[in-house]
Amino acid sequence: MSDRQKRLQHAMGAVGLGDSPQSLVNGSFVNGDGDVITLVDPYTEDTLCTYRDAGASVSGRACDASLAVQPQWAKAFSAAARGQVLQDISRAVLAHAEPLSVIEAIVAGKPIRDCRIEVAKVAEMFAYYAGWADKLHGEVIPVPSGHLNYTLREPLGVVFQITPWNAPIFTGGWQIAPAIATGNGVVIKPSELTPITTVALVALAEAHGLPKGLVNVLCGLGPTAGQAAIEHPAVRKVIFVGSPETGRRVATAAAANLKPSVLELGGKSANIVFEDANLEHACLGAQAAIFSGAGQSCVAGSRLLVQRSVHSDMVAMLSEGMNKIQLGDPLGEATEVGPISNARQFKHVQGMIQTAKSEGATVLTRSGANDSGYFVPPTVLNEVSNTSTAAQTEIFGPVVAAIPFDDEAEAIHLANESNFGLAGAVWTADVGRAHRLAEAVRAGTFWINSYKAIHVSSPFGGSLNSGFGRSSGRDALMEYTSAKSVWLDSAPTPMIAFGYVP
Ligand code: NAD
Repeated sequence: MSDRQKRLQHAMGAVGLGDSPQSLVNGSFVNGDGDVITLVDPYTEDTLCTYRDAGASVSGRACDASLAVQPQWAKAFSAAARGQVLQDISRAVLAHAEPLSVIEAIVAGKPIRDCRIEVAKVAEMFAYYAGWADKLHGEVIPVPSGHLNYTLREPLGVVFQITPWNAPIFTGGWQIAPAIATGNGVVIKPSELTPITTVALVALAEAHGLPKGLVNVLCGLGPTAGQAAIEHPAVRKVIFVGSPETGRRVATAAAANLKPSVLELGGKSANIVFEDANLEHACLGAQAAIFSGAGQSCVAGSRLLVQRSVHSDMVAMLSEGMNKIQLGDPLGEATEVGPISNARQFKHVQGMIQTAKSEGATVLTRSGANDSGYFVPPTVLNEVSNTSTAAQTEIFGPVVAAIPFDDEAEAIHLANESNFGLAGAVWTADVGRAHRLAEAVRAGTFWINSYKAIHVSSPFGGSLNSGFGRSSGRDALMEYTSAKSVWLDSAPTPMIAFGYVP
């Protein structure tokens, strides 16, 4: 067994897991009986462990378990007591931050320093929604009929969440915390490529007061375990985070069962730099926007729109900057950018660079690549057309398309000339222009002289091929609850005869 395998097993042991991924159903670890899935270390390309797809039967048991426990969580626990459990989960995550971060770094290939930040953010998510648990309530509506009309905000029941491989524990916390704060049960299926930290998160939560079976984790594949959960009668809503292609499939399957969905999909976000910006800051921001996480971020600033007068300066600064980035072992303390997370994505990113070349882009690549592992060095595709494949397709790697523009109107046009609508940013010293851009660019999140700032208290989501619905903030509480309208007739004589429903 390699040192890295030993380190992984040690970290898994420290959070109460065995040596290989198992689903967590009704408080017990369960092996699937489906196809064998192999987890590969993206840094060494060695096998880390194998496990079997949960398949449809484990998926069904998970949905049944959540259905059985959810009413008790919603009714027998007071809202304040639910909040207390979330606070305890938050503390448990912090207490196990290091092994959680090590697992994520090895399996997802993410730099350990990024993993530590993401794990701390998961703790913050549970603390944030702990505060909401007893503060979400309905309202009294002054209807004209004289009735007392009020609303109750009720949990949906059991929700099914599907998450991707690029930020597994972060995305898990992002969705589980608001769902359970509002009284729902959860079945969650993390990516088959990175399931371990989600199982660990829920196992820790159960060890710290979360009723067993309320949240169940499926280790397995989308078309088997995932599809079965979408179709299961207990599931009332499907929350999907992943690619537009799979999102379309998931939303279609949910709709066929008359279930609503939330889709958090990809992006091709425009990071817009005007000539009056502080170029040094803008360049650092552009690097963070596309190279951090090896560009495997839904909000990556993958289209860098730069005013023509400063375009070549900006590209030169960016190229110089990318040569200083520390690439390397995700477990290395100094590593800033690790490998691409898996072989499939590695091939896709490499293919997109070839496509850009064939479409005439000048390809500027960081010198000194790693010999092994799924490394793609930070890359600038210079002077590409905004309508080229590389500028319109989500690459999800450390590859930025640098596109010049002449004026504000053209910048807005180029930013919106995309099928996505997830995020965007502007760098400028002109405050009026900054606000004009914030309004004009189609995006669920927009930054001014900044990039990638997000927080659990603020809503997040997109439009068009970036999906629909919102995660995080108060908006997520709305996604995980529905309003019931209650009417009490307070008139001395019943007014039933005048009731009207079209
Ligand atoms: P993916 O679409 O391949 O997989 C996402 C999840 O869907 C995985 O858990 C997978 O097993 C599951 N899945 C696959 N087929 C399924 C099916 N038929 N039924 C049910 N589930 C199925 O995405 P990925 O490659 O894991 O992740 C990368 C994508 O995720 C990128 O497009 C990225 O932009 C997006 N993403 C979006 C956000 C956001 O919040 N908007 C956040 C992170 C990642």
